[in-house]
Amino acid sequence: MATIQEMCNTAKANDSSWLIDSGCTNHITTDLSLFRDLDKSYLSRVRIGNGDYVKVEGKGAIEVETLSGTKTLKNILYVPKINQNLVSVGQLIESGYSIIFNDGVCDIKDKNGVLLISAKMMNRSFNVDCREVCLSANTYENNESVLWHKRLGHFNYATLKRMADLKMTHGLPDIQEQKSICEACQLGKQTRVVFPDNAYRALSKLQHVHTDVCGPMHNESLNGSKYFLLFVDDYSRYCWVYFLKSKSDVFAEFVKFKAIVELETGNRLKILRSNNGGEYTSRQFEAYLAKEGIKHQLTVPYTPQQNGVSERRNRTLMEMTRCLLYEKKMPLKFWAKAVNTASYLLNRMTTRVLGDKTPYEIWQFQQEGELEMIYCTSKEQLADMFTKPLAKDRFEDLKEMIGMCSFGTKEEC
Ligand SMILES: [Zn+2]
Repeated sequence: MATIQEMCNTAKANDSSWLIDSGCTNHITTDLSLFRDLDKSYLSRVRIGNGDYVKVEGKGAIEVETLSGTKTLKNILYVPKINQNLVSVGQLIESGYSIIFNDGVCDIKDKNGVLLISAKMMNRSFNVDCREVCLSANTYENNESVLWHKRLGHFNYATLKRMADLKMTHGLPDIQEQKSICEACQLGKQTRVVFPDNAYRALSKLQHVHTDVCGPMHNESLNGSKYFLLFVDDYSRYCWVYFLKSKSDVFAEFVKFKAIVELETGNRLKILRSNNGGEYTSRQFEAYLAKEGIKHQLTVPYTPQQNGVSERRNRTLMEMTRCLLYEKKMPLKFWAKAVNTASYLLNRMTTRVLGDKTPYEIWQFQQEGELEMIYCTSKEQLADMFTKPLAKDRFEDLKEMIGMCSFGTKEEC
């Protein structure tokens, strides 16, 4: 008879609780209903803590809801007569998971470092309560591709998949395109009016900058803004957003923006492309551009496609903003926070014209590695407020919380 020598810790029985045990060599459950498939022809026995042997009546796989989606645990032994479900530390490590015991907490992470389970020490042992994990897992997506689609502002799956396949950003899992469109995408995205994709691309940073103003919004932002001002560098497609109370602030913001980016790059801004809006064609604005030697390209009124780059970015920003707000059922006064988040994310997403690079990478000359840090490793995960459900009673704390974690620029919004 095959034997598996097991020294099983026989802690108090609890149907839904799993003991994390370094002494047992296999995962073991007493609960037949958990198995997704069970090979009942696998018969064996295990030795438990008091030295007795108990029968193994099958082996199979079960699905476990974790903090990062549903995972399949394989080679679980079905032992009806044991009084405790056991998670084998050794078997987890063999399967590529890491287990970190620190400060009374046991964290189980997958091979990408994504936290799956976090168990607090109770009575000097670490138990995972399935019901608790499932409960908290319900507030997350159980599909990693959908989860990352939402985390990354409902960006299209094809581009996410390309970014993951080409390893353009750290920490993205394999992305599977989804057949169904999520509700926020249905509500937040327009049907495409295709702007001609101009093959032109500037040769250096700040050679050509696109700008546009969006607004007035129906709702003032938390900080009382009604507009946002957008700049897009044609070469890197990096974008900046500034929040304005009035369109008359465009000139002052442009002067500040120009000073910052010129100092940062050592380049001079050469061409500014905008529409004919009064905020861009004031005598003050034109005189300043002439003094600085900046060529002003104006588009013909009512033909937004002529201002293609900023119009496209503007639309993508607004779509992402709507998706973020819909997804979290946030009041519209949070629009500026969402625009700021969207701009942060879009700077880290590739577009066709950039090949296998992201705007951030081109603008900063380095590969983006922050996404994982921001989404996965901060313990309270404050940073992704738009990707987590918020309990109603925490809503009052939201303003303060957002202040701590807003993305991108330090602008008030
Ligand atoms: Zn979506």
